[in-house]
Amino acid sequence: MTKCFFCEYKVEPSYKDTANLDKFLSPRKKIVGRERSYVCAKHQRKLTKQIKYARYLGLLPYVSYQGVR
Ligand SMILES: [Zn+2]
Repeated sequence: MTKCFFCEYKVEPSYKDTANLDKFLSPRKKIVGRERSYVCAKHQRKLTKQIKYARYLGLLPYVSYQGVR
């Protein structure tokens, strides 16, 4: 995929949409950078905010060592 995920599907990143937010997290649950996720600047900014809010609410983990050593 070369186009921004959120522009393509015409959705906005939301903290409630954890299934989608999870796509932009690495196996260790770090936020994947734009050079790898191809999210546009506008949506990356929003995505980061929403991921951090979802973490604060406990919907997403801060770190994960599951399956990674
Ligand atoms: Zn976008």
